[in-house]
Amino acid sequence: MEDFTYYMPAKIYFGKDCIIKNAQVFKKFGKKAVLITGRSSAKNNGSQADVIKVLESIGTEYFIFDEIEENPSLATVEKAAEKTIDEKADFVIGIGGGSPMDSAKAVAFLAANPGKTAQFLLEKGESTHLPVVEVPTTAGTGSEVTQYAVLTVPEKKTKMGIAKRTFAEAAFLDVKYFESMPLGVTRNTAVDALTHLIEAYLCTEHGFLSDVLAEKGMEIFKDCKYQLLKGEFDTQTREKLLLVSTLGGMAIAQSQTSLPHAMGYYLTYFKELAHGAANAQFTKAYMDFVPEQDRVKKILSLLGFESTSDLDGFLEKLTKRVYFTEREINCYTDEMMKIKGKLATVSKEITRQDMYNMFKVSVK
Ligand code: NAP
Ligand code: FE
Repeated sequence: MEDFTYYMPAKIYFGKDCIIKNAQVFKKFGKKAVLITGRSSAKNNGSQADVIKVLESIGTEYFIFDEIEENPSLATVEKAAEKTIDEKADFVIGIGGGSPMDSAKAVAFLAANPGKTAQFLLEKGESTHLPVVEVPTTAGTGSEVTQYAVLTVPEKKTKMGIAKRTFAEAAFLDVKYFESMPLGVTRNTAVDALTHLIEAYLCTEHGFLSDVLAEKGMEIFKDCKYQLLKGEFDTQTREKLLLVSTLGGMAIAQSQTSLPHAMGYYLTYFKELAHGAANAQFTKAYMDFVPEQDRVKKILSLLGFESTSDLDGFLEKLTKRVYFTEREINCYTDEMMKIKGKLATVSKEITRQDMYNMFKVSVK
């Protein structure tokens, strides 16, 4: 067996009312918290109310920054960090989908380093940060168990994983917050989780434990296919999708995401395509390209698909596809060829022509 490492230090609390049942956990991170949320969902699905109830019960002060947009920008996290510094918060609680959860990590770094601009997040090297607690309310990104945070970087005209990395100290997974997810968000985020499992499994950095997590995640995803197509979810299925998301996060925390994620960022930036849908548009081309076709077969068998076309047909029923022009393909191709770290997640050399072809065959 090949050598591997595995590190995922976020403590997971899974179950109904897990926040209310574990109030003491919040006590150890300090006297004042900043709650980082989107504009409305955290207020509507009960997650923010549970966190506030617990903070008030243990006498922890808090304030709320609720201006995180989808695919958050460097400017927004900078604004949240300024407020966090002014308010002298000791720790950061991200509540919501990947956008607020990723922002919470970014704020944790900026708030611990007053005077730094958001550009600092893109600089490699370790740094101090405030403790982070995450409360997911979408089942997709797995950000509560990854060290990554993805932000929109306007100068680069795309989204980027920031160079500063940290895991949350604690992640609270309560399925009751997911009941309010609209069908579109449920499908896009489920597909994001699926692409984490697939990319973690095919990535050059996969290892024994990321494989175990990815395989289990795919097995559970298979059970949810029918409900995803039908668009009706009982609590059991919502719970399964949450597990798929968390397993996907844990798998990419060791391995990492690969080409579909990086290629998809252009569609999100330029075409406003949801993150999961953007990954899905490139998944078939990627799976057909990688040399590990034995592993591709294993993925298809775990998910219950005949072929990559069969999988692609399923994804197309769940998520939107977009059109992009020849000029755009060339532009995206040139940009992708510069991201050497992502190219290295595939075990063979990728020529410009290969990359162009992957974009070309994925146009809808
Ligand atoms: P999101 O951008 O966080 O949220 C999408 C939409 O869903 C927002 O309108 C949000 O409303 C709403 N929403 C959230 N929870 C809801 C609920 N329970 N009920 C109803 N509506 C709800 O979407 P996401 O797909 O979870 O996150 C995407 C981001 O995560 C992207 O930036 C992506 O690049 C990143 N990502 C990170 C990782 C990682 O490892 N860190 C991995 C994959 C993706 P509000 O705005 O009102 O909250
Ligand atoms: Fe993702």
